Amino acid sequence: DFEVPIKGVIVGNGAVGKSSMIQRYCKGIFTSEYKKTIGVDFLERQLNIEENDVRLMLWDTAGQEEFDAITRTYYRGGQIAVLAFSTTDRESFDAIPSWKDKVEDEVGEIVMALVQNKVDLIDEAKMSVEEVEEMAKKLKVKLFRASVKEDFNIEELFKYLVSSYLSK
Ligand code: GDP
Ligand code: MG
Repeated sequence: DFEVPIKGVIVGNGAVGKSSMIQRYCKGIFTSEYKKTIGVDFLERQLNIEENDVRLMLWDTAGQEEFDAITRTYYRGGQIAVLAFSTTDRESFDAIPSWKDKVEDEVGEIVMALVQNKVDLIDEAKMSVEEVEEMAKKLKVKLFRASVKEDFNIEELFKYLVSSYLSK
C-alpha cells in the first residue's frame, strides 16, 4: 500500500523539550536527562489517519538553535511544523514569532501549531494564559498546551497537524 511520507520539523529555543517530544511520540519514552542534541537526525512513526497510511518523520534541530545556517537546512522540505516554547522560559515564548519567520523563509507557509510545553509546571509559568492565546491568534496557528513528561496532548498535536496537512 502507498504510504504518504511527511516531514515534520520541531523548532524553538534550546531546552523547551523538542528532542523529548520526538522521543515521546516516536518511541514512547521520556527521560529527564538533558542532552544537547549532537548531530541531526529524525525519528519516524507510522500512523493511520482518515484511511491514509502516513510515515511521519520528525526532524530534530541540531541543538545548536543559535546557528541559523545549520538549522535552516533541516527545515528544507518540511511539510508540517511545531513551534515550541516552555511554560517556564519567558525567552522561549518571546522567540516564537522569529521561529515562525525562519521556517517560512525556508519553506513558505506550511501547517503549523503552537505548543506550550511543560504545562505540568504551570505553577511556575512565566507567561499568562491570555498572552499565550494572543500569540496563537496573532500568528494564526492552533494552540496546544502540552506536557511531554506527562504525555499530555502530544498525540492530539500530531494528529491535528497530519490531518490538516492531508486535507489541504
Ligand atoms: P530541547 O533542547 O528543546 O531538545 O529540549 P529537551 O527535549 O532536551 O528537554 C530539555 C529538558 O526539559 C529535559 O531535561 C527534559 O527532560 C525536560 N522536559 C521536556 N519536556 C518536559 C515536560 O513536558 N515537562 C517537564 N517538567 N520537563 C520536560
Ligand atoms: Mg534537543
